[in-house]
Amino acid sequence: MSITAAIRQLRNALPPTVQLVAVSKFKPVSDILEAYQAGQRAFGENRPQELAAKAAELPADIQWHFIGHLQTNKVKLVVPHATLIHSVDSERLLAEIDKVARGLGKTVDILLEIHIAEEETKQGLSPDEAVALAGRMAEFPNVRLRGVMGMATFTDDQAQVRREFHALKTLAQQLSGIPGCDQISMGMSQDWPLAVEEGTTIVRIGTFIFGKRNQVR
Ligand SMILES: *Cc1c(COP(=O)(O)O)cnc(C)c1O
Repeated sequence: MSITAAIRQLRNALPPTVQLVAVSKFKPVSDILEAYQAGQRAFGENRPQELAAKAAELPADIQWHFIGHLQTNKVKLVVPHATLIHSVDSERLLAEIDKVARGLGKTVDILLEIHIAEEETKQGLSPDEAVALAGRMAEFPNVRLRGVMGMATFTDDQAQVRREFHALKTLAQQLSGIPGCDQISMGMSQDWPLAVEEGTTIVRIGTFIFGKRNQVR
């Protein structure tokens, strides 16, 4: 399937309330432009340098979503470009984003990344840590908490994936008293239909649109 056809198919299948972030990591600018011609504006990247380089080269109305692990010394590459940083997994990172954003005179939207997978390897805050940090957002005035992000276990066990997504939705509901904190980023190529059923507001889809990457996710 072409990139254009994949985007059309997803747009028809997704409820209008769910935002599609096309994950273009490791993919060339020409692929992004094809998706752009098909009307796609939100793209996800997971490496700071790659995001900054692509942002410099591509149309200014693209919304860049940063979805990868972010080291504090790379924050300054991401903050100038990112519409939304999905992967805030520590107070230290939050403080650095706040500082860099303040230096640029802007406010940055972020999601807290939550460890929902039963797998050991995935990073993220526990739900309790997220609730505690969310209660202290006033200390970080140049950051706006918009919601939570999570990655389910990479498994064919649909019941398990559903359970993990449900846990993230439950946490999102707990945080929904915070003004503007209404987003849930969950669902990738292999599990997005379940994420939609469990109430996601943003899906992050790469392989289905752009084909296989040579690198591991
Ligand atoms: C790579 C990546 C995706 C997209 O994964 P696909 O399986 O290619 O759709 C989504 N979210 C994150 C955090 C990723 O790193």
